[in-house]
Amino acid sequence: MNTIEHIGIAVKNLEKANAVYAALLGEKHYKIEAVASEGVKTSFFKVGESKIELLEATNPDSPIAKFIEKRGEGIHHIAFYVDDIVAEIKRLKKEGFVVLNETPKLGADNKLVTFLHPKSSHGVLIELCQENTNL
Ligand code: ZN
Repeated sequence: MNTIEHIGIAVKNLEKANAVYAALLGEKHYKIEAVASEGVKTSFFKVGESKIELLEATNPDSPIAKFIEKRGEGIHHIAFYVDDIVAEIKRLKKEGFVVLNETPKLGADNKLVTFLHPKSSHGVLIELCQENTNL
């Protein structure tokens, strides 16, 4: 594990949340990106070396819509940066973590990502991400 790449926050309304987080952080988001496969629209804010990722559902079946329905708005996941996502998946499986997608997929911000089920990490959804350089 390297650094905390970003913290993902589920929001109902991206536009409103963008304004709130811009006020909080003193700087506007630097990009907005839709990830069709996940049914989300995201925005990113820089915070030093890390980022805040706001996530709004774009359809009712989106994992973000379901999360908000169950738990309300709030922290949705913590993403760790890794140098070798395939090796980390292998290592974490051995450690007993439940890996949700064993083949990394293309996520927001041109990253290869995978997720660990919250039940294996005390209620927190964990994302691993690696720069998508080798495609
Ligand atoms: Zn994320």
